Parts: sequence; structure tokens; C-alpha cells
Amino acid sequence: MMAREGTLGEIFSSIQGEGPLIGRRQIFVRMAGCNLDCRYCDTAEFRASADVCMVEIPPSSGRYRVIRNPLSPGKVLEEISNLRSPGLHSISITGGEPLLQPTFVRALANGCKEIGLEVYLETNGYSSERFGTLAEVLDYAAVDIKLKSHGSCDPEAWPNLLENEIECLWIAGKKEVSSIAKMVILRGTKPEEIEAACQRLEGLEVFLSLQPASGAEKPSSRELLQLHEVASRHMDPEMVAVIPQAHKIVGMR
Ligand code: SF4
Repeated sequence: MMAREGTLGEIFSSIQGEGPLIGRRQIFVRMAGCNLDCRYCDTAEFRASADVCMVEIPPSSGRYRVIRNPLSPGKVLEEISNLRSPGLHSISITGGEPLLQPTFVRALANGCKEIGLEVYLETNGYSSERFGTLAEVLDYAAVDIKLKSHGSCDPEAWPNLLENEIECLWIAGKKEVSSIAKMVILRGTKPEEIEAACQRLEGLEVFLSLQPASGAEKPSSRELLQLHEVASRHMDPEMVAVIPQAHKIVGMR
């Protein structure tokens, strides 16, 4: 039996910094623990499990208190209620990797819906089976498309990872979940890799966000434009965009 309590890393209020909901106010519930090892990971401190969760209080304060894991869905909903602010768009359940704790995530998402809050799940999509148990309680799903060159897993395991990610998006479509495919673009990402990945997205109702990495892996503007053109050969131009991480640009979490 899977745990109904969750191991979390942090709960805080900010803006969505990625994809088509960029700039929308969200409360972020970050699950602790991840099964992948992406070379560009910017939440490496949440890849392992955690003894404690940092909770912002009040919203926009940047002040945190520490609570001990594991947490019940009810306790997390209580913290979400404390962080509600005017203009709140939805609850982002992110990680780490939320699909590692599907029973908790489903209970939390259900609880959010009961109090009238929409749910946005951000996932690496490693298990379409687990995603399928959650899809009906989601409003938005942002599924990472990991390229082989991202080094997220052993090269032999990567085809299976990609299959699961694509299947998650098909499931989201069937359940009428608004879906986003996120591809992180690194310096040197090959057009052939983007082309092959975008071919797999054909036929899906999905928004593709090409997200430039930051720091040493940051791609050039020339690379971004070229990869956008490659992606646009396979996607509705309305549904593909280069979107940098806005929260980093304005210095937010
Ligand atoms: S899936 Fe996300 S949290 Fe996990 S290693 Fe990759 S970028 Fe980091």
C-alpha cells in the first residue's frame, strides 16, 4: 500500500515562471525526491528525500518555518489556505518528482478541487501508469520531454522514459487536461534531437515550451531560433514558443 502522507521540500507562493501560464500566481507544493539525474537540474537539493519541509508564511514574505515530514494532505491544504492571496491562479504540484508519491498527490489534488482550486502538475513523466491514476484530478499537466543528451538516465533506459512521457501527454489529452510539453534547450542541443522529439508530439493537443537553460548551459539566441524553426515544422505555430524561466529573470523563487 502506498503512503497517503507526503514527503515535501517546500511550500511557497510565487509566479509560474515557465510555459504558457507564465506570470500567473501559484502556490507551489514541491515534493522531495526524484528518480532522474538531469544535467541541468536547478532543484538538485530536492532530488533526495527530506526530513523537513520549508513553508513560507505569510505569502510574499520570503520568511519560512520548518515542519517535519511526512505531511498529510489535510496539513498541506491548511498551509495552502494560509498562503492564499488575491489573484491566485492554481496550485502547482512540482518536485523533485510528484509521480513518486502518487497516492498523496491524488489526495492533495482532490482536496484542492474541493476548495475550488485548480491543479497544475509538473512531472518528468517517467510512469504513464502512475500519471493515469492522477489525470482525472488535474487541470494542467506540464510533462518534461527529456532528450537523450540531457543525461537524465542511463542511455539504455532513455527510450522507455520518452515512451512514458509521450504516453502521459496522450492520457492528458484523453482526460481533457490542458497539457504542456517542456523541452529544456542546452548549449549544443542538436536540431536532429528536437526534430525527432517533435515528430513524437504530432497529433497531440499540446503546447510546446522550448525552455533555454541558464548558466553555463545557456544556448545562444541563434541556436534557439534554429530549434524553434525545427519544432515549428511539426507543431501548430500557435502552440510552440521559446519561453525562458521568468521567475529567475525577476529574482523570484
Ligand atoms: S526530473 Fe526535474 S527534479 Fe529530477 S533531476 Fe531532472 S530536472 Fe531535477
